[in-house]
Amino acid sequence: MNIFDFYNGHTKVYGIIGNPIEHSFSPVLQNTILQKMEFNGVYVPFRVDEKDIKKAVEGLYALGFEGINVTVPHKISVMDCLCDIDDTAQKVGAVNTLKRTENGFKGYNTDILGLKKSFAINKIDVKGKKTMLLGAGGAANSAAVLLSQLGAEKIVFVNRTKEKAEALRNHISSFYTGKTDVISFDDIYTYEKPEIVVNATSVGMGEGVWESPVKDSSFFEGVEAVFDVIYIPWETKLLNDAKKYCCKCVNGFDMLIYQGIASYEIWHDTYMDDNTAVEIKDALSEYFLKGGKR
Ligand code: NAP
Repeated sequence: MNIFDFYNGHTKVYGIIGNPIEHSFSPVLQNTILQKMEFNGVYVPFRVDEKDIKKAVEGLYALGFEGINVTVPHKISVMDCLCDIDDTAQKVGAVNTLKRTENGFKGYNTDILGLKKSFAINKIDVKGKKTMLLGAGGAANSAAVLLSQLGAEKIVFVNRTKEKAEALRNHISSFYTGKTDVISFDDIYTYEKPEIVVNATSVGMGEGVWESPVKDSSFFEGVEAVFDVIYIPWETKLLNDAKKYCCKCVNGFDMLIYQGIASYEIWHDTYMDDNTAVEIKDALSEYFLKGGKR
């Protein structure tokens, strides 16, 4: 690739807004995708204060940005700044991808698409299965909608703050006809054994890197598959514990990569073939595991 072929008057501009933003892997991910696809575009991070979200979205539109990713804490508040929101994003109640249209930006949720793709390539089949969802925040919302869409037989919601789990269950029950329940973390050991467990809490990353929301690892005995949305560290304590009981264990890295690819596909009205996607994923996982600078 020659720099003279890029970053000229025809360069299309993309970006991500969040606060903080320095930790985001998306600039590396999206610029890798743009280069791989030989597309004349660039993707840049912007730290945007919560009070400035409307001004920021209007400004990005005025400047001609083609597509924007949105991360914490703006995924819900940005919904008030859009001309349209796709149905799945409405169901999830959060938007992480904005696509330029004639009238403004349209919002999508690709976290759920990334999770769906990760389930598919890692052969986690939830159809007709008893599932347990740990957490009731943004990632859990996406996971809950996906579990319902994929035809889980039952979703058991578990969260430290039980009211949030109740609220999520009530929301999902408005379109999901499978069984649901809400229990506390203390109850998971005596409750009917789930076949699939999804951890969508943030426990196990950052300062709590040696922690797991599941205190007694024997809980994993007899569980078929465990998915953890976290990808830093690569293997959380929860996944490490589950692995000892021969569960299929999948971390959040594929979800991360495929939510990014899904954003690219939405912005470009295209479909990326599996081989190209795997090449991008392999390049990034190598970079990532070497502790690449984000
Ligand atoms: P969030 O909205 O802040 O939700 C955090 C969740 O974790 C809540 O359910 C919270 O429970 C729970 N939690 C936090 N500390 C806890 C503790 N000490 N004990 C028990 N539960 C605790 O965050 P989010 O946006 O959903 O993100 C959650 C995780 O998903 C993060 O690690 C994020 O990096 C990851 N993520 C990954 C991807 C990917 O592509 N792989 C995409 C999105 C997010 P309370 O309700 O009680 O506070």
